[in-house]
Amino acid sequence: MAVLRLGYAHLRVTDIEAAKRHYIYTMGLYPVLDTGDKVYLKAWDEWDHHSVVLEQGGVGVAKVGFKVAKPEDIDDIENKSRTFGVTTQRMSKGENPDVSDGLRITLPSTHIVEVYYEQTMLGSMVGDLNPEVFPRELSGVGVPRIDHALLGCNEVNTTERYFVDVFGFYQVERLVPDLDHKDTTLACWLAYGNRGHDVALIGGDGWDGKLHHLAFQLEGWSETLRAGQIFAMDGVPIDMGPTQHGITRGKTIYFWDPSGNRNEVFADGYIAHRDRPTTIWTADQLGRGINYVSRTLNETFTTIVT
Ligand code: FE
Repeated sequence: MAVLRLGYAHLRVTDIEAAKRHYIYTMGLYPVLDTGDKVYLKAWDEWDHHSVVLEQGGVGVAKVGFKVAKPEDIDDIENKSRTFGVTTQRMSKGENPDVSDGLRITLPSTHIVEVYYEQTMLGSMVGDLNPEVFPRELSGVGVPRIDHALLGCNEVNTTERYFVDVFGFYQVERLVPDLDHKDTTLACWLAYGNRGHDVALIGGDGWDGKLHHLAFQLEGWSETLRAGQIFAMDGVPIDMGPTQHGITRGKTIYFWDPSGNRNEVFADGYIAHRDRPTTIWTADQLGRGINYVSRTLNETFTTIVT
C-alpha cells in the first residue's frame, strides 16, 4: 500500500468571490473548473486536475483526499478500516469531477477523508518537456503545491492510531503533556514518505471535524518573506510570522483567508525517514515548537479553528 500525498482539500467559504480573489490572485492558484457554488483550483507545479476546492457556505474543511498509488490500495484501506472499526463507503468515479472511484472514510475525529488513485492529469503549468523553472505569469505568492493539513480532534490518539494502522503513516513528531504522560498525544505530525508531515492532528475541546490550517509549500526563507510582502500588499490578515517552527523546522507564516480559515505557507523543514525515532515535545515547550524565534505561543494557535 502506498499513499502518494494529500491530494486535495475542500474548504468551505462564506463568500466565494472573496475566496477566489484570495486563492487565485493572492496565492496564485489556477482555476480549472467553476460550477458556481464550487471552484476547483490547482497550483502551478501540480499535475493533477485540482488540489483546492472552494465550496460556498460556512467555514472549515468539508473533506480532504489522499491519493494512493493503485486501485488495490483502496481495497487494502477498506479492509483495514473495517478491522479498525471505522465507517467507510465506496465512492464512484465522477462524484468529484475528474477524480477516480475510491473510498470515503469518516475518521474517528469525524473528518471526511476520501482515498482515490487517479485524477485527470492536466500537467504542471511549465509542462514536462524542457520546462522553465516557474511560469512567468504567476500571480501573487505563486505557491507551487499544497503541502499538508492540520486537523482538529477532540481526542488525538485514536485518529493518530488510524493513520498509522490503516494508512501506514509513521509518527515524525508528537506533542505530549509531559514526560510522565508520553502516551497521551496532544498533537502529532505524521508522514508516509520522506516529508516531515503529510498530515498533522491537534487536540482541542469541540475540535472534531475542524480545520486548524491548510498549508501551501514554498521553497525557502526568501520566498516566505516574499509571501509576507504580498500579504501586506493585499491586506491579508496575519496570524503569526514570518518565523520558524521548532516542530518540523519549517519556515512559516500563518494567515487567514477572507472566510477566517487559517492558511500557512510552509518552506523547507527536513527530510524524514521511516526508521527515525519520533521527536517528542512537551507541552511546556510548545512556544518554541510553534514559534521558535520568539518562543511565545500566540494564543490563537490553541483557540481558533474553523
Ligand atoms: Fe503546518
